[in-house]
Amino acid sequence: MSAASELEKIAREVAVCTKCDLCRSRTNTVPGEGSPTARVMFIGEAPGFHEDQQGRPFVGQSGQLLNKLLSTVNLQREQVFIANVVKCHPPQNLDPTPAQMAACKPYLDRQIEAINPRLIITLGRFSMARYWPGQRISQIHGQVKQADGRLYLPMFHPAAALRDRDRTLPMFKADGFKIPALLEQAEEIARNEIWGYPVESKPDPEPARPLAVAEAPAIFIETAQVAPEIQLEPDITPNAPGQPAVPVTIQENAPGPEKVPVKVKRPARINPAVAEPSGESLPGMAALPGEIAPGLSLAEASEGRTRPKTPAVPGKPRRKRPAIPGEQLSMW
Ligand code: SF4
Repeated sequence: MSAASELEKIAREVAVCTKCDLCRSRTNTVPGEGSPTARVMFIGEAPGFHEDQQGRPFVGQSGQLLNKLLSTVNLQREQVFIANVVKCHPPQNLDPTPAQMAACKPYLDRQIEAINPRLIITLGRFSMARYWPGQRISQIHGQVKQADGRLYLPMFHPAAALRDRDRTLPMFKADGFKIPALLEQAEEIARNEIWGYPVESKPDPEPARPLAVAEAPAIFIETAQVAPEIQLEPDITPNAPGQPAVPVTIQENAPGPEKVPVKVKRPARINPAVAEPSGESLPGMAALPGEIAPGLSLAEASEGRTRPKTPAVPGKPRRKRPAIPGEQLSMW
């Protein structure tokens, strides 16, 4: 039986399942969706209200954040498979009980076996507990382990990241940014196992460094499609924490600012011999009695001039005086 056929068969069984008490409160079952040949499989906890209404996993705000993460790491939602530990919505969003998870476990086991993903990413503590029993998500998130020929990456649940955007959301993103490298590593593990050369997993990829706004993926810049309450910009704007990033359009060859002519007052030159020492004569002010006019040198003032001689501008040719009829030219 093909993976697609097996997944359809599981979905049909889930649709009529009554193995636990969640069957009484659900609107729709949420078996999971995605590619039967997905290389990456996400496992969440339980369907929420919107998932219960639509019968699809991760379609609420948590789903939007997951979609954003997927597009950031260049994965389409159709390329992965998304499922939950339990396939029915617990009323009041209660945590699934051990009995409910145990009753639903065979469905998830069969889904994993049918898809055989290279990388399994657990979202939240309940799916994490399948592979890391007794551990705390806050302590092991982002720590990859290899087993059964594939890699496992524990991540916070998107809902937890949205609840605590200062602390958990950055960790959620940093863990998520490891996905491309892990997927490449998981493919290599699978190839080597096929050829009989099992390999050890490589060291954990370096955590992604904080992104500057200019280099942040479009996912974090385009906010129009995301509900305002899950905008992701603030914590990737290092210089403006808490300030939403504003997309800036830079037009090439845009004209520069116009030059506005400005009149600049030149400071008056003051004869220190006659100026009052009181400091009344300030740059740009008219000459006071006892001072010389602005721009006048002491020699010019002593000649009785009230305006300075026009200084010769270097490189500027002198204008010739018009010749007077009958005037004799002189060498001097
Ligand atoms: S949660 Fe799982 S076991 Fe419980 S009724 Fe739904 S499908 Fe069946």
